Amino acid sequence: MRSVCVFGASSSGVDAVYEAAAYELGALLAERGIAVVFGGGRTGLMGAVARGVHDAGGHITGVIPEKLNVPGIPFEYCDKLIVTATMHERKAKMEQLSHGYIAMPGGLGTLEELLEVLTLNQLGYISAPVVILSIRGCYDALMAQLDACVAAGFTHEAYKGLYRCAQSAREAVELLVDFKPQELPNKIKEALKQDGKNR
Ligand code: AMP
Repeated sequence: MRSVCVFGASSSGVDAVYEAAAYELGALLAERGIAVVFGGGRTGLMGAVARGVHDAGGHITGVIPEKLNVPGIPFEYCDKLIVTATMHERKAKMEQLSHGYIAMPGGLGTLEELLEVLTLNQLGYISAPVVILSIRGCYDALMAQLDACVAAGFTHEAYKGLYRCAQSAREAVELLVDFKPQELPNKIKEALKQDGKNR
């Protein structure tokens, strides 16, 4: 694993336990020689992970859309800051630069980024490990929702193999580097097969 993309909250002022885990995650990745790609911001868990990488001597690349590239928003010590025209372009760039993903706790932006990389994996656009870092069980409800999608038949059970859930920064890094890609059903063929059965 040479490069990992980390998603996470931009909000500051959350419980210190989250920022501490984000900082630790950045430092652990740097110690492993894994370069980090992130949203480029200096606030919240994004800023904390970037500081963790920087302080431990690692390499951090920020990918930020033009609209957010204003004084006070970007992390000041990015080794590389890539400015994109749009949010869509930003995500495409992050995906191009990364071999795996870690989603730290976060809000709407983080959830959207996490679900997008899971969907891209499901359709075979990318094939990359995804680890969900559930500090203090903050992703328990999402895990339950994903299980509910499987139970209701909206999501094939095999796609649960697309992600792992970690409880600590150290566990997240271990799960990421040990991730073994599994043989997954082809979603398009499955859909055609199901459709054929129902005619
Ligand atoms: P949220 O979880 O809603 O705080 O959104 C965080 C995610 O959205 C990050 O992973 C970023 O990619 C993006 N994002 C939201 N706000 C910012 C910001 N101020 N600076 C850079 N990226 C941001």
